[in-house]
Amino acid sequence: MIRSAIYPGTFDPITNGHIDLVRRGSVRFDRLVVAIARNPGKRPLFTAKERLAMAREALRGTPGIEVLLFDELLIDFAARLGCSTILRGLRAVSDFEYELQIALTNRKMRPEIETVFLAPSIRYIYLSSSLVKEIASYGGPVSELVPPVVERRLRQRYGPPAPALPPAKTPRKGTSR
Ligand code: ADP
Repeated sequence: MIRSAIYPGTFDPITNGHIDLVRRGSVRFDRLVVAIARNPGKRPLFTAKERLAMAREALRGTPGIEVLLFDELLIDFAARLGCSTILRGLRAVSDFEYELQIALTNRKMRPEIETVFLAPSIRYIYLSSSLVKEIASYGGPVSELVPPVVERRLRQRYGPPAPALPPAKTPRKGTSR
């Protein structure tokens, strides 16, 4: 039996935290569909097509992965694709209440579909697309937070990164901090 899962989200844009989760998911499922919600209500920075192109490029070469757009109830999309598992990421405690609410609502509508949560590497536990956009909008460095394709697109949007600051001065002995 082929085990198929769907990993839905806005991916505005895809970050190394999302990619970490895809890698963890991909070794546990034969087929993993990364499902990008058009989500106009969230007023994404990137269009659905741009988010799709970035995710496809970032995940190219990862076996068993498909990246698709969707614009309907997630559980209906999952059922049409034959996915009986929804994969979501759990970062800090702040994700928990929202994720539980969605998982239980989805279960009520389609009990045969189960939601599974994975935790990312500790390096990405506080990483979010919003944080990345905030940093990039002020010209801050994002190269360790997103794949190169996303860094390029963010630079096109917001301009080049700000010049590096001079190293901080070490306080003289006896001065308070
Ligand atoms: P949504 O609008 O559905 O929250 P996101 O693109 O923000 O879409 O997130 C999609 C999924 O990826 C969610 O389950 C979220 O918790 C998870 N996720 C986002 N960032 C990370 C990260 N740094 N580590 C692990 N999971 C993450």
